[in-house]
Amino acid sequence: MMARIPDLYQVLGVAQDATDDEIKRTYRRLARELHPDVNKDPEAERRFKQITAAYQTLSDPAKRRQYDLFGSDGAVAGPDLFPFGDMGDVFDVFFGGGFGGRRRRPRRRTRTQRGGDVFVDVSLTFEEAAFGAQKDVTVDSLQECERCHSTGCEPGTYPSRCTRCGGAGEVQDVSRSIFGTVMTARACTVCEGTGEEIAAPCKECRGQGRKPVRQTTAVEIPAGVSDGMQLRVAAGGQEGRQGGGAGDLYVALHVRPHPVFERRGDDLVCGLTVPMTQAALGAEIEISTLDGNETIEIEPGTEPGAVIRLRGHGVPHLGRRGRGDLFVSVAVETPAPRSKDERALLERLAELRDERPHRGKGLAGKVRKLSEE
Ligand SMILES: [Zn+2]
Ligand SMILES: [Zn+2]
Repeated sequence: MMARIPDLYQVLGVAQDATDDEIKRTYRRLARELHPDVNKDPEAERRFKQITAAYQTLSDPAKRRQYDLFGSDGAVAGPDLFPFGDMGDVFDVFFGGGFGGRRRRPRRRTRTQRGGDVFVDVSLTFEEAAFGAQKDVTVDSLQECERCHSTGCEPGTYPSRCTRCGGAGEVQDVSRSIFGTVMTARACTVCEGTGEEIAAPCKECRGQGRKPVRQTTAVEIPAGVSDGMQLRVAAGGQEGRQGGGAGDLYVALHVRPHPVFERRGDDLVCGLTVPMTQAALGAEIEISTLDGNETIEIEPGTEPGAVIRLRGHGVPHLGRRGRGDLFVSVAVETPAPRSKDERALLERLAELRDERPHRGKGLAGKVRKLSEE
């Protein structure tokens, strides 16, 4: 059964430009007259519910504004679409909670809901992970519906008490077991625990109060992050319902490998192969680092496996000062003689160093335990 919502100003008997104070005083006067504990006339109770519903809309600036904008354009709703359930709150304000023993505690129910978290993957180059970056991420999210101000109701209409749970937001299951009767409460599936049903859902958001949106957010990636980390952007997720806070945005980081450098925490490692002559004679060699080219010193007589450390050329520490180091592991290329001249030179060198095997007699090798290396 549908009925036209009566004009709320007429219900209260105030002018459309009545001040908040006038509305409050008028409601208070009528409520003292019509409250069911005072007035046993069934018509008084009906009137009381009407003025209470009218007051709830007109005493809330946002609701009143919405009502002024949309409320008089022929919206229809069921006769019981008035939100009676919050009456207790009204009486806490006006009468200090005293109407004898019959008054029940106000039900705590709300459509307020925190927005959901949103998860997104971001791919970073090795350098972006090391030095930080700003990345645009596109997420499918939910945003407040402007048409219904996230109430989910067509403008000018109001939610009604849920018919399934009577506004409690939960339903009780009674089952019998060997232990006796067991009562279990679960959230009402019809109203999702809100206690309210929407008879005329907002056309824009289909009663959800929020609309899906695809939005692009710039996310600041701090220096020093590494593969597999997850960043949390507080309140970067879906918007909440009716003042519930926004959810968070979680950004999972995937770092592409570097062609040369590998990370060991905030240190970097790489290999460098030098010819035997450079390892023997020493050399200055230019290598590329994350910070551009650096010259490193190969000491005369550098052994294969020697490690050269470049302090501060690693990855910046995440969230604090300083950087890791770059470790260059030296490999030595041993030449096979490519000409008679090269062979002669190497043999001459071996002779000079007394490393040349004598005919018929092997050179005494320095054999040692491998694990002591
Ligand atoms: Zn809407
Ligand atoms: Zn319900």
